[in-house]
Amino acid sequence: MFNKETINKFKTIPTPFYYYDLEVLKQTLQKLKEESDKYGFIVHYALKANANNAILEIIKSYNIGADCVSGNEVKKAVECNFKPEHIVFAGVGKSDAEINYALDNDIFCFNCESLQELEVINELAVSKNKNASIALRINPNVNANTHKYITTGLEENKFGINIWELETVVNTLKGLKNLQLIGLHFHIGSQIMDLGSFKSLCLRVNEIQNWFASRNITIENINVGGGLGVNYHEPDANLITDFAAYFKLFNDFLELRPKQKIHFELGRAITAQCGTLISKVLYIKKGVNTNFVILDAGMTELMRPALYQAYHKIENLTSACSSMKNISAPFGEGNGLKYDVVGPICESSDCFGKAVSLPETIRGDIFALRTAGAYGEVMSSAYNLRDRVKAVYSDKI
Ligand SMILES: *Cc1c(COP(=O)(O)O)cnc(C)c1O
Repeated sequence: MFNKETINKFKTIPTPFYYYDLEVLKQTLQKLKEESDKYGFIVHYALKANANNAILEIIKSYNIGADCVSGNEVKKAVECNFKPEHIVFAGVGKSDAEINYALDNDIFCFNCESLQELEVINELAVSKNKNASIALRINPNVNANTHKYITTGLEENKFGINIWELETVVNTLKGLKNLQLIGLHFHIGSQIMDLGSFKSLCLRVNEIQNWFASRNITIENINVGGGLGVNYHEPDANLITDFAAYFKLFNDFLELRPKQKIHFELGRAITAQCGTLISKVLYIKKGVNTNFVILDAGMTELMRPALYQAYHKIENLTSACSSMKNISAPFGEGNGLKYDVVGPICESSDCFGKAVSLPETIRGDIFALRTAGAYGEVMSSAYNLRDRVKAVYSDKI
């Protein structure tokens, strides 16, 4: 992904920083559009994965909608000129202020997660003399077979309305005059690599659709959420996720009613591979059974490893660069050493990888933490009073 010229430029930029390859982003979006357009599927981008203006600008230019999970994300989508009729708003805990903001901006749809939320949205809509379009976020009780912290579609999870509550919800809706039921929404989790989970979702949605049809309730929109995974282990061989297989699966297994539209909400699969966290080695320290590489980036810049033991491929770009010149480093790739790669933060979970095979590493080497474009920069913090991490874009270096 990085040529020598780029790596040499990295050496001149203060670290740590996020580097975004906008060409990779565009190629990803191109392929996504190609594959979803085959079936007339509507795609929304989940802003929570990465909400940088430069990234949103490009995504919007591919005529993709916005999937928001907070009032400020709705605001961001509006400010970045996503059309209100392309904005959906989910989340188990929408505050009154957030709902009011979304109502004022006439967004396409609220994805509602509880009975009480429906009542509140109706009440707020009544006071504005408006109608709110809503979809019921249903918890389908389908296992996404992913990390438990990013599993959202099981009965034990806080998300969505459970199937056994549907009867009550549908009856209550009849009395909520300022709500218009326009869809059903599902989202079973994130970083899903087993397409079988999506097939299970399709089959469950088909059953749920029958339930609504048997009550003569017409549903215009089916939103199957996001969650399509990316390859963290071999990013270069898989820069673009297999959108073809993903969309084909929904086309094959989801039974749509006449005129029904299908919506997707993808985050990670769009932005993960275009982003890399670039960091510099501060120190090498000998441990009892291991050597530590201490980077100037930590969990404050990239929280996923500390938060859910996520894997990010770690590369020493400085030695990669010297092997490109055919001057092999003292310990080349072949006789890799093992290092624990850690950050500077005062937490033992501030570790990017244990026993990572790397060429011999010295102070000042430039490191890349790959596949960090989704849920990376957006989760960064100022813990330990750290400076907020910066972003650098490929068209501007
Ligand atoms: C997070 C989220 C998404 C996007 O998930 P990805 O795994 O990034 O594709 C979509 N829909 C909802 C409701 C979400 O909360």
